[in-house]
Amino acid sequence: MTFDYDLITLGAGSGGVAASRRAALHGARVAIVEGSRVGGTCVIRGCVPKKLLMYAAQFGDSMREARGYGWVLPEPRFDMATWAAAKAAETDRLEGIYRQMLQGSGVEVVAGWARLDGPNRVAVATDTGDRVLTARHILIATGGAPVRDSIPGIEACATSDDLLDLQQLPERAAVIGGGYIALEFASILARLGVKVSVFYRGELPLRGFDTMLRTSVVAELTAAGVQLHPGSAPQRVQRTSGGFLLSLGEDRVLEFPWVLNATGRRPNTAQLNLASAGLVPDAFGALAVNAALQTGALDVYAIGDVTNRINLTPVAIAEGRALADSLFGAKPHAVDLSRVASAVFTLPPLATVGPSEAQAVQAGLRVAVYEADFRPMKQAFIGGTERTRMKLLVDADSQVVLAAHMVGADAPEIVQSLAVALSAGATKADFDRTIAMHPTAAEEFVLMREPMRVLPAA
Ligand code: NDP
Repeated sequence: MTFDYDLITLGAGSGGVAASRRAALHGARVAIVEGSRVGGTCVIRGCVPKKLLMYAAQFGDSMREARGYGWVLPEPRFDMATWAAAKAAETDRLEGIYRQMLQGSGVEVVAGWARLDGPNRVAVATDTGDRVLTARHILIATGGAPVRDSIPGIEACATSDDLLDLQQLPERAAVIGGGYIALEFASILARLGVKVSVFYRGELPLRGFDTMLRTSVVAELTAAGVQLHPGSAPQRVQRTSGGFLLSLGEDRVLEFPWVLNATGRRPNTAQLNLASAGLVPDAFGALAVNAALQTGALDVYAIGDVTNRINLTPVAIAEGRALADSLFGAKPHAVDLSRVASAVFTLPPLATVGPSEAQAVQAGLRVAVYEADFRPMKQAFIGGTERTRMKLLVDADSQVVLAAHMVGADAPEIVQSLAVALSAGATKADFDRTIAMHPTAAEEFVLMREPMRVLPAA
């Protein structure tokens, strides 16, 4: 049988673009179908603009701190519209780069929303009607979108997509959720002058993270003036003329002019006509894949957030490249997801690689816990209260370092580098014989001498 393409990729986000370019590099004939902007969530409405807003927030801190270092500054004021215009220009620039890279690799970009149309067929709804394309392999890389039905009435609230397009910030905001998006934006908005309240249903936010990180983030957000409401998930949200009413049970109702729905993201599969290829997603809409990223349908693969495993851009990119190498480069390989580092870009940020204390113990390991907790030099000088906290988890039997966790300035930069050591199987002795770089915060990771405690295996 002959096909129009060797590979059709559905979705031009980070994963889809990486897979398509790598496949084309190996000589495959590739089309990528995208109904929205090239670049996907990360570039257009996620990681990149979020980090640009975090930088805006950080400048507020820097100006305040600068006074303690002798700078005489006028009272600063943040203008969201100025930021929004610069952000729009930057996302346009990045989208242009993505398009150029695809073109340079020989990947054809097809504009329109794609759906499966039986085995090896993709139908694309374009401005001029449906266009049907055929391919030897089909890759679903359609990512995810904010959940809008987690709580009755929440569909009227803003999502992170909407927040990043605001021209003006509200004076007060409620954030619903206690995950990455909730905490990053709570922290950022508070620094930009918004009075923020966060409602999450657990005792601590960031379920699944090490307790040290979870308690630290609570302390830092509280110090930044964020009102935290643990154990309180709104039962319903009601739109009013002036904003939103959050019903919190037992007749407790609070009103906010603006509410951020940060209750998670769901895979984009509903519109894909998966059944035509014999595919059934799970109850949440995610596509199951095996180690070779194959779905249950012959010749159909999936990568990244649409599979709802580790929903991080670098994972989708690594999977896309591995798939392209395997299908077209005669270099089959799988992605090792056992030790993926990640960061939460609160101010200060936190970063982590490896299991939490609880997860390590549950895995049947005896765990030596090393910790450092200090006020960084930059803060101590100006009487700041922000602390840096670090933790290393070491297998008490093999002495292999299992995990590094950190909250504090530059945590993501530091932990990314430590992830290399952990991937290489570094032991505590390797850390111990590494000479410190002084004066830095990172040096504390090689200066931890005695474990605070040794935990028995569960
Ligand atoms: P998360 O899964 O991280 O958090 C969702 C939050 O919403 C959780 O606190 C969850 O509570 C809560 N929640 C879910 N349903 C309800 C409900 N019905 N009522 C009340 N609370 C609810 O999702 P995010 O949207 O924050 O982020 C999505 C993913 O995107 C992340 O998991 C991450 O993989 C990625 N991401 C990564 C970033 C980074 O790398 N820095 C930044 C942003 C996103 P509970 O924990 O109790 O279930």
